[in-house]
Amino acid sequence: MTLHSSLIRPEIEGLPTYNAGLAAARFQATYGVPLRAKLDSNENPLGPSPAAIAAALAAAQGLGRYPDASGTALRTALADRLGASPDRIILGNGSEDLIGVIYRTVLRPGDHVVTLCPSFGLHEFAAQACGAGVTKVPFPADWRFPVAGLLAALEKGARVLIFSSPSNPAGPAITAADFARLIAGTPPDTLIVFDEAYVEYLDPEARFDALAMLESSGHAWISLRTFSKAYGLAGARVGYGIAHDAGLVAAMAKARNPFAVNAVAEAAALAALGDDGHLARGLALARSERRRVSAVLAALGVACAPSQTNFLFFDCGDTATGTAEMLRQHGILVKAWMEPPFGTHARVTMGTAEENDLFLGALRQIRESR
Ligand SMILES: *Cc1c(COP(=O)(O)O)cnc(C)c1O
Repeated sequence: MTLHSSLIRPEIEGLPTYNAGLAAARFQATYGVPLRAKLDSNENPLGPSPAAIAAALAAAQGLGRYPDASGTALRTALADRLGASPDRIILGNGSEDLIGVIYRTVLRPGDHVVTLCPSFGLHEFAAQACGAGVTKVPFPADWRFPVAGLLAALEKGARVLIFSSPSNPAGPAITAADFARLIAGTPPDTLIVFDEAYVEYLDPEARFDALAMLESSGHAWISLRTFSKAYGLAGARVGYGIAHDAGLVAAMAKARNPFAVNAVAEAAALAALGDDGHLARGLALARSERRRVSAVLAALGVACAPSQTNFLFFDCGDTATGTAEMLRQHGILVKAWMEPPFGTHARVTMGTAEENDLFLGALRQIRESR
């Protein structure tokens, strides 16, 4: 049966299908070789804290009841850590969910959103789904955040400025000076959405108190964070936002799925938050591996962007889909970037040292056989 052609909203019809990676279970069936290193989705190779798994199993006993829709226990724990009141914090089914919620709350058809290029796909697609136009400002060759370009794009009038720092997929983090210039120049009626999915991975010398700077800026803003990356809970789907005021959170709550975070996921996130030792081990691994792997790539003649994250964005020198496809034949998954002009780049997550060595060995072989 074919759908009547007028059924689908044109904004949705025009969207690309989201490139959500290949789940491990489907890999062998598709490629006929075992999956040896899954390095395409920025997951934590250590997985979650054992305390989070235990809490999830215990919470499963209560699956007969609806969860606490407001997620009070987790929001209160996060508020304590952040020094903000719980009514400024909103939970989502992953922070991806919250990106859509923010847009549904503020965007009108014909609105304008400004972001970076390369960018996290949903920053763009979820805006287009609401009928907004998106301007993407490219990173320059030195991978510094293009503050002047962003400010110029904002001059046309934008409802939302959204970007990630540290950046996915590129890896670098904005400096305090650039961040100060950017928020000082952003028009007062533009909502700043600061996606900090990788904030935990920052080197100490790259850290600054971005939330305090936003707080004193007088802007409307929301910062997004997640349990999917540093906390190793990608499968649980828990993210959160911290907003400038409770009013934005209350409005977003109306645009959100009321039970966005399930009871098992909330319990797992709460326990993960209490295991600083596990978090620190994962961060130390990602930091030392990104240094080591980028040095090996440089020795192979492969350029990559500076990284403050758990992944590297490297130049394949040729279409990235070709390299990614050859890596799959070796049982290795990376993410080929398909956003012009970065179509020769691929993103590789830092796995364990063994997984990263499998990636480096296969890449070396592929390059030598050219
Ligand atoms: C991974 C990621 C997210 C969110 O992931 P969730 O699993 O939905 O919490 C959000 N923004 C960026 C930039 C990411 O890389």
